[in-house]
Amino acid sequence: MTKRALINVDYTYDFVAIDGALTCGEPGQAIEEKIVSLTKEFMDAGDYVVFAIDAHKEGDDFHPENKLFPPHNIIGTPGRHLYGELARVYDANKDRENVYYFDKTRYSAFAGTDLEIKLRERGIEEVHIIGVCTDICVLHTAVDAYNKGFQIIIHKDAVASFNQAGHEWALGHFKDSLGAEVR
Ligand code: ZN
Repeated sequence: MTKRALINVDYTYDFVAIDGALTCGEPGQAIEEKIVSLTKEFMDAGDYVVFAIDAHKEGDDFHPENKLFPPHNIIGTPGRHLYGELARVYDANKDRENVYYFDKTRYSAFAGTDLEIKLRERGIEEVHIIGVCTDICVLHTAVDAYNKGFQIIIHKDAVASFNQAGHEWALGHFKDSLGAEVR
């Protein structure tokens, strides 16, 4: 049987809450139930569940995002906490062998992290990607997964963006250019 991983991207207060620093707003809040149910399903099935979470330092002028976006997901602030019920699910399961939380350094969960090594050593061939934003961090993570030869599944009811046109475009790109299954 194909080994699979669920990659949870950036579902934090700053990206989802009504007053988050860089929020997707209502579309982000609307996927909470689906994010939580998929996370529980993969955890309980013994699949590898990854939380790849954006991490910034205050006033880090070397980070390219600083010129593009307001400060967000600052390490040590409540804005970086997982949003809503997902925070409780993570806290209750964080000591499991198949749960892995790490800091992202760029949009892609693979950029400058040990995610690929973690997936390879477990023989994982199929990655399921959920979270926000569809057309930024989810997209860049999917592009890297494609280039590394992973099969990709995007759960369309568990991704969202503040940019509806970007969201729609990215869903098409996953399928047409990355060979992903969009379900
Ligand atoms: Zn960021």
